[in-house]
Amino acid sequence: MIARAMKYCIKTTFRHSPFWSLALAVVSAVSALSVLVNVRVLERMIDGLSGGTGNPKVFLAIIFWIVSVLAMNLSLLSGKYINIHINADMEKNFMPTVIDKYAMIEYRHFESKGTQDLFYHVNASSYGDIVAVLNTVLNILSAAITIVEIIYVFSHAVLWLGAVIVVLMAPLLYFDLSAAYIEMRQRWTMTKDIRKRYYFQSLFADENALQEIKVFNSKDYFINESEKLTQSINKDLKRNIGRVAKNKLCIAAILCLFSLLVVGASSLMIAANQMRLGTFVILISSIGVFVSAEQRLASGLSSAVRISENVNILLRLLELDEVGDGDGTTDEAAPENAGRAVNAPENAPASFPENAPEIVRKNEAVIEFERVSFSYPETENVVLNDVSFTVKRGETVSFVGVNGSGKSTIIKLLCGLYKPDGGTIRINGRDVSKLSPSQLAKELSVVFQDGQHYMLSLRENVGLGNIAGLDNDGLLKDALAAAGVRDLFQLEKGLDQKLGTLYADAVNLSGGQWQRVIIARAFAKPADVIIFDEPTSSLDPIAECEMYNTIHNSLLKAGRTAILISHRLASCVVSDRIMVLRDGRICECGSHGELMNANGYYAEMFLKQQSWYK
Ligand code: ADP
Repeated sequence: MIARAMKYCIKTTFRHSPFWSLALAVVSAVSALSVLVNVRVLERMIDGLSGGTGNPKVFLAIIFWIVSVLAMNLSLLSGKYINIHINADMEKNFMPTVIDKYAMIEYRHFESKGTQDLFYHVNASSYGDIVAVLNTVLNILSAAITIVEIIYVFSHAVLWLGAVIVVLMAPLLYFDLSAAYIEMRQRWTMTKDIRKRYYFQSLFADENALQEIKVFNSKDYFINESEKLTQSINKDLKRNIGRVAKNKLCIAAILCLFSLLVVGASSLMIAANQMRLGTFVILISSIGVFVSAEQRLASGLSSAVRISENVNILLRLLELDEVGDGDGTTDEAAPENAGRAVNAPENAPASFPENAPEIVRKNEAVIEFERVSFSYPETENVVLNDVSFTVKRGETVSFVGVNGSGKSTIIKLLCGLYKPDGGTIRINGRDVSKLSPSQLAKELSVVFQDGQHYMLSLRENVGLGNIAGLDNDGLLKDALAAAGVRDLFQLEKGLDQKLGTLYADAVNLSGGQWQRVIIARAFAKPADVIIFDEPTSSLDPIAECEMYNTIHNSLLKAGRTAILISHRLASCVVSDRIMVLRDGRICECGSHGELMNANGYYAEMFLKQQSWYK
């Protein structure tokens, strides 16, 4: 696993920043090799100064020594400079790949608890880990080269001392690696608790949660829960610190014994005139070089294990299934423009002109569900069972049913977030499973229940539904007017008024106003079909009724096809057709009047809800 992550990181950095990655490798090699030059030159210098060799050689040795010290320091400085360039190249060339991947990952992964930890670990600076692995690998190599150089220096002076280092490397590496693994395991087991604690703490920064916490006086509960998690995390930390410390103590003991051995043996040899002064000095100073190289090796190995684990998490994320790219082809029976009305061309206008003539309804299917069955992955429950229906151009169709009857699932399938287990779903005659995400995105616009309140300008809040139209004031104003918030662009700064709470001059909106801005965002997109997924759940019945009248009038004027999901049946009364879901099937279908006359399940639900308001 570690080798795989390392290979990936080295390949990725060399691919996205070839020049600077190579430069970093060269600089690391120079830094590692200059140790041997430095030690050997120091030996010559001391021997020369103590009269062992002639003066010209001493002079040369001094120059070499200065050059080697300079090389070591320069490589350290240039390493930092080179890393800035590698990081910049990675941000420019690699990050778009990760962001693309996020957009392409199959939706079921976002709903899976199993992959939540992955998302928690991978963040916007993941490329930093990839660059860090390259640095770590080079550090390990450079420390290893230094150790080989030191072995050479010792063997050259006293052969058996070189052999001792070779033997000692085995236990040293063992203790280094086991400390690194303890740290890695600790991180992974603590993730779940850390994520839970983060959730509890983030509640205090969430406007909605904070309101509830105040009203229900639940502050102490969350503080206590968070405290319990902190205690459990700290307990784990302490236990593991103890284990790591044992390994580190063993390493320190080995290094101490080795230092004593070198000092003792070389002192005896120099006293017996069996060693030159230069050799004695370099052996003593090489102890420090060896200890620091061993520490670099240990921290390199520990970082390699830790960061490789991060990279493996990133790799797992990059390997998650993507939404099928679709074959991009059009069915023979359904050419590119099949199903489009003559008066609803490919780039249907997104505006809602006040006096637009009502669009003549064509009797053509825009949405078709043909014998669709579906269960969520890894579950037994059949949510949709052989469901078939058609929505025609310009129609407004409502789906109703009790909680859990499958209304949102129909929307998720239509948006291509899940694939049906059986049957076919078509939009404008084209099989949804064969459309690429971008092809499908062109067809649909959605108003989500918890649509995003962007802490940005009014222009961005609406224009993010149709980026090409961000500067098209007419389009944005029409969308706002269609959503019933014409007054918003009369704010002091017009469309450029900042909304929310992020900016000092921002204006915050009421729940109803935000909801209408979210609807305007969906209207701004020139898609054939607009889906409203419980868009008014946060509004009171009067505001909801007004909102639905606005939506219906605007849809009618623009000739848009719409699907509505609402738990309040009164909001569906004006829909052209209502489909009633029960036990995974459509049990009734018709206009409000037809369904009431039929006096079935819908009528029963409607009358029950109506009685609440009497
Ligand atoms: P509705 O929108 O009508 O309230 P849903 O379509 O959300 O109903 O849910 C239909 C059924 O599917 C419910 O039984 C629900 O528990 C189940 N369900 C919804 N989402 C998931 C999911 N991601 N994984 C497993 N089961 C799910």
